[in-house]
Amino acid sequence: MGRDWPIAYEDLEPFYQEAEVKMGVSGAPNNGSPRAKPFPMQPVAESFLEQRFRERLAGSGLDVITNTTARNSINYDGRPACCGNNNCMPICPIDAQYHGGLAVDAAEKAGAKLVENAVVYRIEHDAQDRIVAVHYYDPDKGTHRVTGKTFILAANGIESPKLLLLSSSEKFKNGLANSSGSVGQNLMDHPSNGLTFDAEEELWPGRGPMSPASINGLRDGAFRSESAAFRIDISNSSRVESITRNLIAKGVYGPELERQIRFYAAHEVSLKNVLEILPNPDNKVVLSDKKDALGIPRPQVHYAMSDYVHKGMAAAKAQYIRIATMMSGTNLRHTPDGIYGNNQHITGTVSMGADAKNSVVDGFGRAHDHPNLYIASTGVMPTAATVNSTLTAVAIALRSAEHIHANA
Ligand code: SF4
Repeated sequence: MGRDWPIAYEDLEPFYQEAEVKMGVSGAPNNGSPRAKPFPMQPVAESFLEQRFRERLAGSGLDVITNTTARNSINYDGRPACCGNNNCMPICPIDAQYHGGLAVDAAEKAGAKLVENAVVYRIEHDAQDRIVAVHYYDPDKGTHRVTGKTFILAANGIESPKLLLLSSSEKFKNGLANSSGSVGQNLMDHPSNGLTFDAEEELWPGRGPMSPASINGLRDGAFRSESAAFRIDISNSSRVESITRNLIAKGVYGPELERQIRFYAAHEVSLKNVLEILPNPDNKVVLSDKKDALGIPRPQVHYAMSDYVHKGMAAAKAQYIRIATMMSGTNLRHTPDGIYGNNQHITGTVSMGADAKNSVVDGFGRAHDHPNLYIASTGVMPTAATVNSTLTAVAIALRSAEHIHANA
């Protein structure tokens, strides 16, 4: 099913290790990956909720495994250990958790020049198809042209194909790096939905990281020829605010409001699945005829769920019910059938592949059509599997960097 990668796990493993050291990754030794070396850090201390799910599901085949995360469990790289304030998304207030700003700081310290508020709107090539410049707008819409020897397009999985499509020329009428026609195609994320229920015992979500653990054992098997793989993520986000809002909206007030906040904040928990979606050329990013504030065409997205995803969703729902039963849960509230949330894990739109006829870049992230253009983005991943895409994208980018360096 899906598409083949042009590289093997063994090609990427040293770069996974490098990415984990650079970003500061903690992970469980029993997470099932065929690793050659341990993670740089042990997992963050288990939350009470994670512990109780693990204990109550023991023996069922649904092993609860601490998530691999770029989150410090000890003071690491000049940043403190996680202190469990439960505010990891969108950003950790004490930088216990890695974010892209740290990479920018490191790049500037190493001599890189960062041009802020520069919106690139065109990539320029020469007669030999080599890239020679990028053009950008400053906030006053003044135009600038930057030349270089090697170019790395490092926007996300939507903006990267958008910029390639925007850069069409007399010779490349369908946009740059697009002789295959696949720029923007095969858009994938991780569709998901969830179950909220009231556990029998007090679990008090909200202490420790917001997404501490997953059930990963359901993500591979022969069923994947027909039905999407999935991971079940156990949420540990504080429920106090949403519970309070809901109770006030229902007209609950006074001592009863306090009693109910205490009860539900302790008992209400939620699960969500993280489903695989297959690469499909019809799921794609194209240029819209609508423009942004700078007059640049916006991206327009076509994205639909297939039966493969629907079947995976049905299988996940059956597991939700099993888990809620083992937690003696009541008041089960499923996301309505057919409704899927997104996870911002944007992949596939500038896929790597061995065949230039149906992919955008090679295994080193180099554009098949332009020898000095590389793409570093989650968008180069040809398939999405069931886990967050950042670590793999960083590992691929480090492999690209080594290749660029060796060939400079
Ligand atoms: S729980 Fe989240 S927000 Fe709090 S310190 Fe740890 S990573 Fe940061």
